[in-house]
Parts: sequence; C-alpha cells; structure tokens
Amino acid sequence: MNQFVSLHPAIDHGIKPAAENFQGGTLHCKCAHDPVVVKVAAQSAFNHACGCTQCWKPEGAKFSLVAVVPRDSVSVVAHGEKLEIVDASAAIQRHACRACGAHMFGRIEDKTHPFYGLDFIHTELSDEAGWCEPQFAAFVSSLIEGGTPPSEMDAIRARLHELGLEPYDCLSPALMDLIATHTAKQKGVLSAA
Ligand SMILES: [Zn+2]
Ligand SMILES: [Zn+2]
Repeated sequence: MNQFVSLHPAIDHGIKPAAENFQGGTLHCKCAHDPVVVKVAAQSAFNHACGCTQCWKPEGAKFSLVAVVPRDSVSVVAHGEKLEIVDASAAIQRHACRACGAHMFGRIEDKTHPFYGLDFIHTELSDEAGWCEPQFAAFVSSLIEGGTPPSEMDAIRARLHELGLEPYDCLSPALMDLIATHTAKQKGVLSAA
C-alpha cells in the first residue's frame, strides 16, 4: 500500500463522487479578508490531478486538481480588483489573487485553441460539495520538472492507481482525442465515419 504517498489533501483519503444535479457554486481565494469570489453557474467536467508546474496547488501538494466549466458560467462577484494574470503570454491566462496567489480561473482567449470556451477552475476553492470528482491524472512525468525525484515516480503512479486515477503523461485519451479532432477539423481532414 502507498498511503504514505501524499498527492493532494483533497484526494489523499479517497475520492468523493460528484452529486447528481449539482449546479455549481462559488469559489473564494485564500485571503482571510476581502477574498476574491467567483461564481460558477455550472457543474465542472474533466476534473483531474495535474502534475504540471503551471497549475495552482496548495502548499506541499504534488498535484493540482483542475477541472473545466463553460466560460459563460464564470463571473467574478467580489474583489476582482485583486486579480492579475499570472502569465499573459501563456495559452491559459490564469487569473490569480495577487495577495494569496490562488488561481481563481484560467481562461483561453485564442479562439482557435481546442479548449476555447472552457475556463479552468480549482473546485477545492469552493465550500460546496458535489463538484465533478477527479477522474484521472495528467502530466504525471512533469512532477520531475517540479522537483520530485524520479525515483519516487513508481510509488506515485502506484498510489494514483490505488485511488482509481489512471496516470497519463499528457492529457487523458478523451481530451487528446478532442484536441486531435479540433486540429483535424481545422485542417479539413476530419472523417465522419
Ligand atoms: Zn486572495
Ligand atoms: Zn497543470
């Protein structure tokens, strides 16, 4: 057993399934005073553990947990003046609280991007239960770029399997197929059958 391998506090003790008919909720940053509040009027999808070095994660966590929602469902309802874009040149513009560093939503402005129309959110910033549960782990090998010793990777992948989170070193097959479908459509080579 690999319980000693801590991945993220929200999944270390098992995964809570999504609630049926869940309609979204509010995300708030980590500031004790005047937190940024973002309303999300939709259930999230494709929630996953991400091992990349760009996603926001709590102190000490190996993975972030990140999901997508339609961008139209996302609105800043309090203290938007504290938000700044972490890296304006990145494909995903991560709007973070400049005081506590929490990423409130990541937005794609490039209309040709396969994921245009979806915002990336961290549902652990919400007090509501019932969001889409983590379903897989993406960019697992990238943990090494974040400082994880390569020798720990076997134990990390074993723990992910134990939790039912299939580890991938890019995105999941479903998401890679969505990207390839988008690319094929743009090139005019997409087959219907
Ligand atoms: Zn904050
Ligand atoms: Zn990531």
